[in-house]
Formats: sequence, structure tokens, C-alpha cells
Amino acid sequence: MNSDLFKKINQEIINCKKCSRLSKYINEVSKNKVKRFQNENYWGKPLTGFGDLKAEVLIIGLAPAAHGGNRTGRMFTGDSSGDWLAKVLYENDFANQPTSKTTKDNFTLKNTYITAAVRCAPPQNKPLKQEFENCFPYLEQEFKLLSNVKIIICLGRIAYDTCCKLLEIKGEKFSHGKIIKQKKYQIICSYHPSRQNTNTGRLTWKQWNSVFLIAKKILIS
Ligand code: SF4
Repeated sequence: MNSDLFKKINQEIINCKKCSRLSKYINEVSKNKVKRFQNENYWGKPLTGFGDLKAEVLIIGLAPAAHGGNRTGRMFTGDSSGDWLAKVLYENDFANQPTSKTTKDNFTLKNTYITAAVRCAPPQNKPLKQEFENCFPYLEQEFKLLSNVKIIICLGRIAYDTCCKLLEIKGEKFSHGKIIKQKKYQIICSYHPSRQNTNTGRLTWKQWNSVFLIAKKILIS
């Protein structure tokens, strides 16, 4: 059963300590909490992917945020990137509600699975090359099990590079809204909805929404 295999991989991910720098960092962040989350218990472990195991849409992010996913225990949950992602997924019928704040909020993905290139929050959101390599086998294993995936949305150039490695795509440069066809997949590139991009206008709501409109269009075509 796929769900048993997912459980097995997920357990392996949660217990993983392959990257000593990151294991140390997420543990420290969980102890030295920021003021606004002083009263919360941080997750402080690697994060698994989550969503519909029969999903046709796979979203690949970079890595959890120190006080977002690393705090709440779910990717894109409890930070501003998660706010943007939950809202756009809801507005395009890929989620049941427009917010993703905690693991107890009943946020459910429809026909969508969310994962990341790296599962532990890195300092300054910058994993090292070796850390990407250490974490890559988890993505490979997840991807094999997600056999219905047709569309892959890559959030940011680094997520796209990881997807290129996964699907052996060569010579296709990243640009927002670009669609690449490879094997049975359509890969859509998007800027990451980080504050750095959304607060500066590098990624507008219209540009962001357009990525999910493309995915919807491909699904019904
Ligand atoms: S980033 Fe991935 S490989 Fe490294 S410790 Fe975390 S889960 Fe393990």
C-alpha cells in the first residue's frame, strides 16, 4: 500500500540527522524562540511532505522556514509564504480553506501534494550543496510513490533546479510562468512567495495566481 510506504519514508525523514549543521540549527531555533512565539512548542525536526497521495499536482518548495514550518510541523504553515500559498490554492480549488496556520486547522489539499528540496530549516534560508544532496533521496522516493502527478509547480529557481535533477531536464532556464514539458510531466516555474519577493513587488498577486490558473487549465485540457 502506498500509504504504508509514505508512512515509512515520513518516519525516516522525521528521524533524519544526516546534516549535522541543520539538525543543530533547528534544535537551537526551537529553544531560542522569537518573542512572538515564546509560548509555543516548536516542532524542531525535519518536515515531511503532505497532501493528497493521489495528487496530480506536486508543489516543490525550497526548505521550511525557521519560525514557520519548523515551528508548526507542517510545510508552508504559519508564515507569510504559507499565507500566500494557502490563499492561492483555495482560490483555485486546490485546498478547502484559504489559511494554513497550524496542523490542527483542518487545512486540506485537493489533488495536490506539497514537498520541498530540503526538509530542515536552514540558516538564512540557504542550504548548502551537500545538504541538498543529502535530502534529495527523500524527494526521489516520494516522487516514485506519487504516481498520478502530471504537473509540477516549482517555487523558486532552487526548487526548479532540484526538479531538473529529478527529471533529468537540461538546458532550460528558469523564468516565472515558464512551462517545460518533460516525459509525462508539465513543469511550471514560479517565483517563491517569500516576503522578499511579495513585499518588493517582484511577485505580484496576479503573477502568482497566474501559475495556478495555468495548472488548472492543464488539468481540464
Ligand atoms: S535536510 Fe534532509 S537530509 Fe538533511 S537532516 Fe534534514 S531531513 Fe535529513
